[in-house]
Amino acid sequence: MGEAGAGLDPAARESLMQAMTGKTVSSAVENAGKTKDWVQTLLDIIPRNPFADAALAFEDGYHGGGILALMFFALFVGVALALVRSERTRVFEEWLAGFYEVVMKMISIAMKLAPYGVAALVFSVVAKLGVDVVFILGKFVLVVLSVLALQMFGVYGFILRVFVKVNPWKFFHRMRDVILTAFSTSSSNVTLPTALRVAEEELKLPPKISRFVLTLGATANQNGTALYEGIVVLFLAQFFGIELSIGQQATVVFAAVVAGIGTAGVPGGSLPVIVLILQSVGVPGEGIGIILGVDRILDMSRTVINVTGI
Ligand code: ASP
Repeated sequence: MGEAGAGLDPAARESLMQAMTGKTVSSAVENAGKTKDWVQTLLDIIPRNPFADAALAFEDGYHGGGILALMFFALFVGVALALVRSERTRVFEEWLAGFYEVVMKMISIAMKLAPYGVAALVFSVVAKLGVDVVFILGKFVLVVLSVLALQMFGVYGFILRVFVKVNPWKFFHRMRDVILTAFSTSSSNVTLPTALRVAEEELKLPPKISRFVLTLGATANQNGTALYEGIVVLFLAQFFGIELSIGQQATVVFAAVVAGIGTAGVPGGSLPVIVLILQSVGVPGEGIGIILGVDRILDMSRTVINVTGI
């Protein structure tokens, strides 16, 4: 994505970093640089103590696998759970589903404050840093929209034409209700009923297949979200002038792909996940506030890619 996040005056960057995290840019860069090489990063994905990872991931000086190892553990639990189908695992699954709903509610209550927080943050950032920030954000929006368009027309178009032997334009035309619903609701889950109807009525898919694939895919297949998460992390790293090593970039790719599976199909579902990935590579999680003002329109667009990709 080139250097879309760069271009901020170093003094302005320094004061923003101080205000957000109480740290200096150079200490953050130093911390980010202290991270391990990519072989160690890959090895650390296998958790030694997932509970310690959950509790201590963001503690200064913690050297375990952190959030990545925790994601790996969660994925592994999910696979094992899917393989053991008994009365007792069903109780555990119900418990997890209940816990997930409670956490989502907590996030949605907290998000009610977001519009006020974002307005205040954008105001203070622009007041401190000047209109430069607006240009940098404009570049960010352009990069995200171009990458999503490339995924939709390049990658999906190629797969449809070459492997499925279907004209992509006809396919997108048949999918128009799904695309419009996803765009207007920003939620893969809310779009699910429309996607089920279109798959059966327009695309003539066998219900047995479409019901299974679409229901699972509404949360587990989020290509647009995975791309977005990666771009935001790179953008904010550039914004704060933090150089990411190859190992850290591999971490971002892995985390974005796994997180794409785990991200809830609701508006803004990826935001908490982005904060986790940011922190795991040493970029201030608070920085997410900078992109929140433009997130909604990008959320609408990435949700279209998510549901079309299923
Ligand atoms: N809104 C997205 C979806 O529902 C998730 C996200 O990226 O925030 O698919």
